[in-house]
Amino acid sequence: MQEAESYDVLIVGGGPAGLSVAEALDPALRVLVVHQDREIGEPVRTSGCSWVADLEALGIPRHLYHVLNRMEFYSDGEQCGHDLLRHKAAVLDVTGLYRWLAARSEREGRTLLCATKFLTAERAPAGVRAVIRPRGAAERAVFARKIVDASGWHGAVMAALGDVPRPSRIGVGIEYEMPIGNARPDRGVLFLGSSVPAGYGWAFPDAHGRIRIGAGTIHPDSDANPRNLMARFLASDMPARMGLEIGPVLRVNAGTLPSVPYDPRLVFGDVIRTGDAANFATPTVGEGLRIVIEQGRALGRALSACLVAGDPEALARHEAACTRAFRRNYRIGFEANQRLARYGPADFDGTVRRIGAMSEAEAVALIRSEFRASMMAGLGARFLSRRLARLRDGLGLRPRTRSK
Ligand SMILES: Cc1cc2nc3c(=O)[nH]c(=O)nc-3n(C[C@H](O)[C@H](O)[C@H](O)COP(=O)(O)OP(=O)(O)OC[C@H]3O[C@@H](n4cnc5c(N)ncnc54)[C@H](O)[C@@H]3O)c2cc1C
Repeated sequence: MQEAESYDVLIVGGGPAGLSVAEALDPALRVLVVHQDREIGEPVRTSGCSWVADLEALGIPRHLYHVLNRMEFYSDGEQCGHDLLRHKAAVLDVTGLYRWLAARSEREGRTLLCATKFLTAERAPAGVRAVIRPRGAAERAVFARKIVDASGWHGAVMAALGDVPRPSRIGVGIEYEMPIGNARPDRGVLFLGSSVPAGYGWAFPDAHGRIRIGAGTIHPDSDANPRNLMARFLASDMPARMGLEIGPVLRVNAGTLPSVPYDPRLVFGDVIRTGDAANFATPTVGEGLRIVIEQGRALGRALSACLVAGDPEALARHEAACTRAFRRNYRIGFEANQRLARYGPADFDGTVRRIGAMSEAEAVALIRSEFRASMMAGLGARFLSRRLARLRDGLGLRPRTRSK
């Protein structure tokens, strides 16, 4: 093995999280990003649905996303929809976005090695010694003062150092890109029920006249293969009910993400995790892109404060800020996720009915795993009043009217 090269920060994973860390690191730092795929942004492992307001806040250029004005929800026996008047959704050009992020982190002192895999690491005085292997070449030793695990659900660095085991519960999904046909081009669809047990499906139109139709499930809650789920869905009457035309498959995307309770530990000495390696995607629908970009940049700033400005508390503050941002919402969202994984078709019909009874803001908050106390109280009150109304109907009682 060659003698160790030395960097300030080694980032493992050139997905949106790792690239966002790299982008925000101080230009004075020597940084190496290793990415096991041949190219940035290929293959695509996500369906890229997000929210316009977040993308604007993150400065993502408008040409990298397609706006959705409506979101519809289907189960075996129910359907509902919300016009997105205040909370526009968006479908990202995933490859374009990742390449844009990579270009923003390019500068002197930055090295991005594609087709290069992180193999293992060990703690060393004042840093970490890692072993990487470029495809078809010999292993190389790398020393870094800090190492960032941005390797997604693999949690490759965490697993190599024994800090956090690989996730015991994962979401696995597959998506087919097809011509959009006659489907409405500004409408997203989420579907639940017997065609996607312990998971959900989606149909997201993109800016290029295609629609991404996918299905995901949770292992080991279900042992279903997403390909079989898609086959079952495509052969069912569901696509026609949703106004989807099934055309030739132009491209297949597949991906995995962790589906475990949020664990607030991010900093393990000189090793820090972020993105899916830190379980940042929302527990309700596994939406991660806007979050991993925002938190990746926050970690880049914290690392700069630590390594350049000599602020020893910067990483602890970053960890605490993430705990504040995620812990409560993700606990509630994870409970909902586990409940949904046990649901049968009738339960999903009830879920879709309840989403239909929500306001646009409440439905969006549910998808985003944002459970504000006021929203929970409002939903609880409406749920109780519906239960009371049903009880009254069942007992043949009329609601009391106020006498004048
Ligand atoms: C099927 C599916 C659909 C999704 N849909 C959406 C959606 O619509 N909207 C949304 O916001 N989010 C969605 N997500 C979630 C979103 O994709 C993730 O939250 C996000 O990609 C996480 O980014 P990341 O950079 O942490 O990890 P990743 O995107 O997984 O990137 C990590 C990278 O690290 C590389 N890597 C791994 N191990 C090593 C190693 N040993 N050495 C070098 N490189 C390594 C991997 O090849 C990978 O490219 C979806 C996820 C899945 C699985």
